[in-house]
Amino acid sequence: MMRVGLAMLQGARHEHEEAILSIAKDLQHEVEVVQLRKGDQLDASIHGLILPGGESTTMRIAARSEGLLDAIYNWMNDHPNRPVLGTCAGAILLSAPSNERAPYINVQISRNAWGRQRQSFEADIEVELERLNSSGVSVPRTPDVFGHTPLVVGDAENQNSGDAFPGVFIRAPRFESDGIGCEVIARLGEEIVGVRDGSKCAVTFHPELTNDRRFHAWLLNEIAALSPTD
Ligand code: GLN
Repeated sequence: MMRVGLAMLQGARHEHEEAILSIAKDLQHEVEVVQLRKGDQLDASIHGLILPGGESTTMRIAARSEGLLDAIYNWMNDHPNRPVLGTCAGAILLSAPSNERAPYINVQISRNAWGRQRQSFEADIEVELERLNSSGVSVPRTPDVFGHTPLVVGDAENQNSGDAFPGVFIRAPRFESDGIGCEVIARLGEEIVGVRDGSKCAVTFHPELTNDRRFHAWLLNEIAALSPTD
């Protein structure tokens, strides 16, 4: 049984739970979503984490009373290989943790850098993650011995046939293009909108508000690949 911790700090949480449970079914993983509200829930029985979007300042304040954010950061220090997906405000918490902690993702991020709430938008972005086939099983995008990228046969209706991913940007932050010290996994034109630093993935958009589950599948696949000592 995989246990995915979902930080119930504030913001878009329930959509993440739905997304994880639906892709878990497709991937045939047994998954329990643990709604994290108090620091003492963060223990070794949690295999991966989701830090949702919302309002990062409110999250930092909300987390103070139950010590949740500190416990999340301590858990990440104790289990550096366990995967974490941070979306939007969650990406801010990963790349700019307060309390004099070093960033968990080596990238510079600016809050609200697309403008105000009404400048929120939706746009197709390019994602470099494994695709899913019709049964939700991930298909590696790495070229085979002939240098061919494997075809995705029979895409499910709710998956995109190409790499285009519906990016939903809500008062989103922006990564500083000259401050990227990790792998780029999502782009909106020239703009970098998703990065991965080892076991941590941060995106400035909201994948949980779409039916494309590639990021949630990534989290579960990373958990499945953990070794007992991780
Ligand atoms: N503007 C928010 C912040 O700076 C992030 C927006 C979001 O998560 N949708 O915290």
